[in-house]
Amino acid sequence: MTTPKSAAHAGLSRRQFLGLGAGLASAALASAALPGLAHSGSGIKSSVPDSAQVITHINTGERQVCLTFDDLWSEYFTLKIGRAFFERGIRLTLFPIGIAVQNNLNRPNQGYADLYPRLRDMGHEFGSHLFTHRPIHGFSVEQLIAEELEPSLDVMRQALGREFRPVGIRPPYGIVTEEMKQVAEQYGYPLILWGMDSQDAICTKQQCDEQCIPEAEAQADVLLRYQEGDVPDLCFQENCEERCVDTIISNYETYLRPGAIILHHALKTSYLAIPRVMKLLRNWNMQPLPLSSFLGNRSL
Ligand SMILES: [Zn+2]
Repeated sequence: MTTPKSAAHAGLSRRQFLGLGAGLASAALASAALPGLAHSGSGIKSSVPDSAQVITHINTGERQVCLTFDDLWSEYFTLKIGRAFFERGIRLTLFPIGIAVQNNLNRPNQGYADLYPRLRDMGHEFGSHLFTHRPIHGFSVEQLIAEELEPSLDVMRQALGREFRPVGIRPPYGIVTEEMKQVAEQYGYPLILWGMDSQDAICTKQQCDEQCIPEAEAQADVLLRYQEGDVPDLCFQENCEERCVDTIISNYETYLRPGAIILHHALKTSYLAIPRVMKLLRNWNMQPLPLSSFLGNRSL
């Protein structure tokens, strides 16, 4: 078994990482692993917690939703997103991957040395998205604790400079196993999935690639290198992020319900979507709350 800090995992490129996430996330949705609220005509169905609570949404008569952002792979967009909502008086619930936090700790001279305390001071709160972002199928309880949960808590303690209690655990790809439930119960943390996927990651994976060569630069010599396998990818998409914003807004218009826990990722496309998301939430009179407030005293 590889260790959490092995190069094999830490060395995942953002592109490989994103691709894996988007594919499995859609697989999880397709297999109805998530009791999505989108299909409930009369409102939101209850999630069905057994030993540990698995939460995808809240049964509430209030027009409240919870905005969550996963991964935090990009410090640049994480900070921009955190600030944009802070300036609008909205608190987010963030689920950073442990490796992303560790990367942040390992490069204090990149301009984001206090990223996590800054986000906390803006009022945003944190859950655990585990450490390596591997699919946890087949992981034992001991393995989940030693290789995933504890390292994720440890880096957050280091990043925040104090004790850290996550608001909940969001297993990567929404994969919930019996072993994961046992760990959550042992620690007393709820398992937090989502009831609405903005599909920002799926859209980015399908339509955008930051490593691709813009059409204007696709000269003959570049094409030749591409054919020789030197260039990672070639695409002729323009304004892909803006088109993905349309996808995000369309998902909101179709699937948003009161009580929804909404899944975003700290990607450019979700950053660009913020003004339109905010306008939609205002028009629909939906109040975004962080998870801790959202969960407080409400029936699950
Ligand atoms: Zn993730």
